[in-house]
Amino acid sequence: MTPEEFRRIGHRVIDRIADYRARVADLPVMARTEPGSVRAKLPASPPHDPQAFDAILRDVDEIVLPGLSHWQHPNFHGYFPSNASLASVLGDFLSTGLGVLGLSWQSSPALTEVEEVVTDWMRQMVGLSASWSGVIQDTASTSTLVALLCARERASNYSLARGGLQGETKPLVVYASDHGHSSVDKAALLAGFGRANLRKVDTDAQRAMRPDALAAAVESDLARGHVPCAIVATTGTTTSTALDPIEAIAGVAKTHGIWLHVDAAMAGSAMILPECRWMWQGIEGADSLVLNAHKWLGAAFDCSLYYVRDPVHLVRVMSTNPSYLQSAVDDRVKNLRDWGIPLGRRFRALKLWCLIREQGVAGLQSRLRRDLENAKWLAAEIEATPPWHVLAPVPLQTVCVRHEPSGLEGDTLDRHTLAWADRVNRSGAAYLTPATLDGRWMVRVSIGAIATEREHVESLWRAMRAEAER
Ligand SMILES: *Cc1c(COP(=O)(O)O)cnc(C)c1O
Repeated sequence: MTPEEFRRIGHRVIDRIADYRARVADLPVMARTEPGSVRAKLPASPPHDPQAFDAILRDVDEIVLPGLSHWQHPNFHGYFPSNASLASVLGDFLSTGLGVLGLSWQSSPALTEVEEVVTDWMRQMVGLSASWSGVIQDTASTSTLVALLCARERASNYSLARGGLQGETKPLVVYASDHGHSSVDKAALLAGFGRANLRKVDTDAQRAMRPDALAAAVESDLARGHVPCAIVATTGTTTSTALDPIEAIAGVAKTHGIWLHVDAAMAGSAMILPECRWMWQGIEGADSLVLNAHKWLGAAFDCSLYYVRDPVHLVRVMSTNPSYLQSAVDDRVKNLRDWGIPLGRRFRALKLWCLIREQGVAGLQSRLRRDLENAKWLAAEIEATPPWHVLAPVPLQTVCVRHEPSGLEGDTLDRHTLAWADRVNRSGAAYLTPATLDGRWMVRVSIGAIATEREHVESLWRAMRAEAER
């Protein structure tokens, strides 16, 4: 494809995306696709001869689009929002179109320096002190893995330079709440701690980690000769946006010299609102934290921000320095390959830079405030409408809800819950994700797609009532 052909076809692709966004509200939110049906419409082997781009676009319209659930739909209330603001989409295009890689500062100086600037903007936006340094990773899963690798190496005094974890005589232990994200377990396992050394700390009635239970678990491990290594606390758990008490947990971490990593993948975006910062009170006592700009904030996936207090340690754990990557300016620049796992780095900072500049901090703040208000409104409606119940506090934008008609309990109630959620989803009116809370099914209503206004939350509530009260 020549640049001239790209110009012509590219404009049409942009038109398509704009048209899609303009009409997405009219599409059924959830894909009604049978497993294998998309694959069955596509040739099993690649084309031998070149094909016209028109043919590709036609297949996108006819085969791909009908096989998608629409995350940018105003009635997408599943999982957590994954907002791809159109400004950040353009930033992502620019990044891909420029096609540069940040293997080292030298390989694309502006890539590194824009990333430094934009991660520092975000640091200021969420109210962190200047002692934090940030880098962009692909996902929170990777950020948390990097955190646990750094914790492991600090607790083992750089065992990677010796026999690694296999050479350690005492087991290293990781602590997380039983409401922590599955990526925490995965990171602990991949970092070599082993399931037997992953403690699930008890939570309180609000599903927040109990600092007394954490302290007791640490003491009991110490008594057995284990080494408490890392605590992963969550600001905004995935099921119910519970808030672990960071300040008290940081106290335990400090007493015993344990690494504290805070998973604020979702809730981190809310910290651009000063009135929300109580939710991670004590954050300055953490060693590392992750927040996903690719969720509520609106940077197109993937854009996970990982902040550390001790970048020298991070680089010491992650650094490799082959001759072909060395340069004369290495002592004056950041080489971001040493701030994470992959060598190659996309120019992800561009999409976040575009988002923040195009919206301004004030624009982002007012959208998030709108969503918080919408969640409060819905929670109040639900609470005022028996036999509907709100099952957990609503500090953010997620409402955990159950419709509990008299006479339904236990498994029968579970079946009712799953059935009405499924009816809402199949109706195409909205998309909700059921989840278990305290052993029983409930439905998470996650508000915060960019397009979601009050009227959409009202229509969602009507759809929920229509399907559950049938
Ligand atoms: C979404 C989420 C994650 C996982 O995020 P990825 O970027 O998809 O890895 C981890 N923790 C919490 C609390 C989350 O909400």
